[in-house]
Amino acid sequence: MGANRTGAAGKSIVLRVPVGTQIMDENNEIVLLDLVKAGETHVLLKGGDGGFGNEHYKSSTNRAPTKATQGWPGEERWVWLRLKLIADVGLVGLPNAGKSTLLASVSRAKPKIADYPFTTLKPQLGVVQRHGEEFVIADLPGLIEGASEGAGLGHRFLGHVERCAVILHLIDATEEDVVGNWRTIRTELDTYGHGLTEKLEILALNKADAVPKEELAKKRAKLKRAAKHDVLVMSGATGDGVDAVLTALLQAIKAAREAEREKSSSAPSRVCAMSESLATSRRLIIKIGFGLARR
Ligand code: GDP
Ligand code: MG
Repeated sequence: MGANRTGAAGKSIVLRVPVGTQIMDENNEIVLLDLVKAGETHVLLKGGDGGFGNEHYKSSTNRAPTKATQGWPGEERWVWLRLKLIADVGLVGLPNAGKSTLLASVSRAKPKIADYPFTTLKPQLGVVQRHGEEFVIADLPGLIEGASEGAGLGHRFLGHVERCAVILHLIDATEEDVVGNWRTIRTELDTYGHGLTEKLEILALNKADAVPKEELAKKRAKLKRAAKHDVLVMSGATGDGVDAVLTALLQAIKAAREAEREKSSSAPSRVCAMSESLATSRRLIIKIGFGLARR
């Protein structure tokens, strides 16, 4: 057209993703974006340049050119979107250790509970309220031997542990080889890498109600020796010892957050999921909708 006009701008394509989503490159190796805050927006790919209109071709000899150029195509790229939940506590343990039972008793989450392995097929989140504070526990489906190589269900969910401040490791006290069971999970975490074994581990011997006192004391001592840190004793079924576990978790979460805050203030470019406020992390979890019980 003769007048000096601009073509209409193309519409942006907006993808809404849950908080905790990472955008990976084509080979699923490099993190392009790490979306850890609610409401964050980033431009992943730019649209194409619009091209020149006739105004551009105006010259002293041609005052009304009819020429214009097409726009150029926008950027293209293959990416992977990977969701890593952001919870404060990652609940791990062999199948049947009593993880879902604990989550159900301390939060309003309603995970499936049964005495066969892999009852829990998806990560379950629960908000725990204790002593006027709250935190989020993620019940991760049973890790089994070989999970880090992809056997069973485990390794798909290990990524979620990466974002947790603390690991709560439950051991079934009715099992003969409690130390062996503990090692199995530790080996999985270690093989997976990504700093999982450097995270603070709260270790709890569960199902204390179902084991004679002496036997329990022996198993606890053995476990303590192997783990080289304290072992709490509890029963998710009766609730005995659960409060002490929650108190220990709360302390550990606070310490981990404090450490993250220090790290992020000295290295501002680092993204620290755990320094997020709890309110934010709860909001995002509702969006994810992994069976979180809402108040
Ligand atoms: P998960 O696989 O680790 O999630 O384990 P579940 O919570 O599904 O529990 C496995 C089985 O152990 C179920 O039959 C539970 O009722 C039982 N259980 C869980 N916690 C306790 C406990 O503290 N004491 C006893 N006696 N049984 C428990
Ligand atoms: Mg379970």
